[in-house]
Amino acid sequence: MDQDETMMGMALDEARSALAEGYLPVGAVLASDGTLLGRGRKGMESNHLDHAEMVVFRQVFSGDYRYTRADPISLYTTLEPCIMCWGTLRHLPIRRLVYAMSDPYGGCAAAEVTPTPPRHLSRPLEVIAGVRQREARELFRRFLDTTTESFWINGGASEFVAQVRCD
Ligand SMILES: [Zn+2]
Repeated sequence: MDQDETMMGMALDEARSALAEGYLPVGAVLASDGTLLGRGRKGMESNHLDHAEMVVFRQVFSGDYRYTRADPISLYTTLEPCIMCWGTLRHLPIRRLVYAMSDPYGGCAAAEVTPTPPRHLSRPLEVIAGVRQREARELFRRFLDTTTESFWINGGASEFVAQVRCD
């Protein structure tokens, strides 16, 4: 198992904890060259701010910190980030995004700011998709099969649901 697969395993562990608590199983970790910096998961039903990625961003980047873009920091997340998490990730000193399952409903990993402002031109982001995707999809499938959240029962995020159930 390579380093990305190992670190994604920690994000999947967070996702499993979210699922056990009844929440959409999104887990995220930040790591610097294989060293864990922080971990987070979705911990409530309906909140547009406390996504797994935002939880771990706050753990690692609140207050004073010493990290810069010279550090090889990667974000690992079990689902392609939304526009808020993508934007925050581009703002932080993070060089790589590694995610498991793509999200054709709200995923923004391919988003571009046009015209690209100089700050972002000088700060490229490497994106790697599909790491341990099968395991992430299985957790989402189990969530969809068991959730009592009205958003999902009422057919919310149909493109995401189709991605989970695509085989
Ligand atoms: Zn998000």
